[in-house]
Amino acid sequence: MNDAKIIAITQPTITLPPSDELFGQIRPMTAEEFICYTARVSNPSNQNNTLTAPKLLKYLIEHKHWSPFEMVSITMEINTTRDISHQIIRHRSFSFQEFSQRYADPTKDMAFVTREARLQDAKNRQNSIEITGDNADDNEVKNLWGFWQREVTQKSKEAYKEMIVMGLAKEQARAILPEGLTSTRLYMAGTLRSWIHYIDVRAEEGTQKEHREVALAAQQEILKHFPSLEEYWYPTPPTPEELEATYGVEKIEQLCKEPWWRFW
Ligand SMILES: Cc1cc2nc3c(=O)[nH]c(=O)nc-3n(C[C@H](O)[C@H](O)[C@H](O)COP(=O)(O)OP(=O)(O)OC[C@H]3O[C@@H](n4cnc5c(N)ncnc54)[C@H](O)[C@@H]3O)c2cc1C
Repeated sequence: MNDAKIIAITQPTITLPPSDELFGQIRPMTAEEFICYTARVSNPSNQNNTLTAPKLLKYLIEHKHWSPFEMVSITMEINTTRDISHQIIRHRSFSFQEFSQRYADPTKDMAFVTREARLQDAKNRQNSIEITGDNADDNEVKNLWGFWQREVTQKSKEAYKEMIVMGLAKEQARAILPEGLTSTRLYMAGTLRSWIHYIDVRAEEGTQKEHREVALAAQQEILKHFPSLEEYWYPTPPTPEELEATYGVEKIEQLCKEPWWRFW
């Protein structure tokens, strides 16, 4: 649940020219190499340069040169619950295809899930707090939440099935199913540009945990095909020499005295 996997991705039909690196063979470009190839459209003699891809992708992002990232499209299959899919489909630059409860019976074709008990963060309404340890009040919340979910799932399934047998249309009967406990499957298709922005927003702490799990799974899938993005999402910290070259010794000494710097 709350997973994402790539089921389709742009496959370039152009090949890399034979080179020593390829032992004189040719092979189709990867999707990542293809982005670099299109980014270098104005520099034809260097278009097949695959060695500097990580630096180039980082440079493109830093300079907001987004159009090369629109040259590749990716479709993912996402399995989640319907309340989370509702948030996902707000990302309007994507195209979607979702399991319809008008035609199929979700009580047969899609599983029901039990949701985690988390507590409301009193200070930050976009945050919820995991229940850990043995606090009696927290455990009561957890147990009661489990009880009500079981009750609601059982009753709503019973009601759904009974009304279907009596001839009620599926498009009406589905209204009784609990959205957050009913699983769904959707296909989400968009350019790499949209995926990068989607992940940037939805892998953040401000996003609900279940949706964050989807975004983080999507990120791992994207990194398999675009390993150079590792440097964008998880940058290598600068070496002391690089810091010195950027800021100068005096500035570094001054920064080291500031309390936040020691924890950086
Ligand atoms: C924490 C959180 C809380 C929210 N709360 C609410 C709410 O209370 N009510 C509500 O109605 N909605 C809410 N939303 C939904 C939000 O307002 C958007 O509708 C949703 O995130 C979709 O984003 P989008 O329109 O940018 O679509 P996307 O499809 O993600 O982006 C649209 C286009 O903009 C581009 N783009 C996006 N970001 C950048 C960028 N940084 N630089 C360059 N291009 C960019 C994309 O590549 C794409 O082409 C919330 C979202 C979040 C993350």
